[in-house]
Amino acid sequence: MRTGTGWDIHRLISGRPLILAGVPIPSDRGADAHSDGDAAIHALIDALLGAAALGDIGTHFPPGDDAFKDIDSALLLKKTLSLISDYRIINIDITIVLQNIRLAPHISEMRERLAILLDLPVTAVSVKAKTAEKLLGELGTGEAVEAMASVLLQEKTVSLETEGDQWV
Ligand code: MG
Repeated sequence: MRTGTGWDIHRLISGRPLILAGVPIPSDRGADAHSDGDAAIHALIDALLGAAALGDIGTHFPPGDDAFKDIDSALLLKKTLSLISDYRIINIDITIVLQNIRLAPHISEMRERLAILLDLPVTAVSVKAKTAEKLLGELGTGEAVEAMASVLLQEKTVSLETEGDQWV
């Protein structure tokens, strides 16, 4: 088993869509980013790469590369899955911090979208949302969105069979 953590933050500006965990969120502003700025998926990608000790999102998808301009982060996630194909994902847990926009009505759709992208049961996909309690600078004033992710991977070569109390 291997764990990984990821974190991302994007400034929110007008004239951009707000997409989180692959789901468009009604908002008068969205992430200022080279890609579509999906902070939840970016944090998840870093957690997956981190668990496999394969660097980070910038290593594999450089922000200066025109190939990734405005790219759907779901595609970056799919490419990440091919990089960690020696592992199966046991579960993921994501926390999104966003002020002024209620994410609660979108949590189910975000979990379902990620479950499809990751080919996991929705019970293995957790998405939580918090506000910044109107504190903490740009996060508290709703001028930024932040996301954290944690994942657990298992090497595919490791058998799930057990013998007595011992993993074999
Ligand atoms: Mg990002």
